[in-house]
Amino acid sequence: MAQPFGPTGPQPFPQDWASLLVLVPHPDDPEYDTAAAVAKWTAAGKTVRYALASSGEAGIAGMEPAQAGPLREEEQRRAAALVGVVDVDFWGFPDSNIRNTPELRAKIASVIGEARPDVVIAIYGGPEFAPGRPNQRDHIEFAAAVTDAWDTMADPPRWLFQGGPEPTHVEDVDDYLDVAVESLAAHEVYLSVLDPATPVHEQARRVLDMTNPAHAGRRVAGFRLQRSTDA
Ligand SMILES: [Zn+2]
Repeated sequence: MAQPFGPTGPQPFPQDWASLLVLVPHPDDPEYDTAAAVAKWTAAGKTVRYALASSGEAGIAGMEPAQAGPLREEEQRRAAALVGVVDVDFWGFPDSNIRNTPELRAKIASVIGEARPDVVIAIYGGPEFAPGRPNQRDHIEFAAAVTDAWDTMADPPRWLFQGGPEPTHVEDVDDYLDVAVESLAAHEVYLSVLDPATPVHEQARRVLDMTNPAHAGRRVAGFRLQRSTDA
């Protein structure tokens, strides 16, 4: 059987925590690889919050930002609610122009400092998702800003992870794929403009078949450990 996780394989995602903060640049970013795990965690009574640097206002072709921003916020709140997240914050940084600036790093450090989560999961910040599939500049810059902000904190949370390929840790989400599909499909207008030919639920299921692959016969959400206060 193919071993997509490297010779030693990933570890199970930590269980001994109570609160988690997801940090991403755009609406829909939490839904591509993290939402299935979020559904499992909130069902278990853990607290998960989302914070988004932008409202994704540049993300719908042919729609003015002033219309697209509020619409995408609404779709994001619906997507979050489906996996048990009611605390969704938008910071108003410019979509498609997210840069690793002192202002962004200060905002990230301040939000982490106020929320004091046990775990932070940030957007994947590597150069590409797979050979020939480059990551977006907004993602790369935002992820770098999170790590840089983290490194300035005197008392950071216990763990910083990123989503993305080649995980160090996996969460079994076999029972949470359907709700994750619903969550991604809540970005209904966004997805229907992105690919008008494919029904939104079908798009969502195809995406999650790639981003929540099977590992040892079970569907998983994968995360890459970036920082930990554990010795
Ligand atoms: Zn994004």
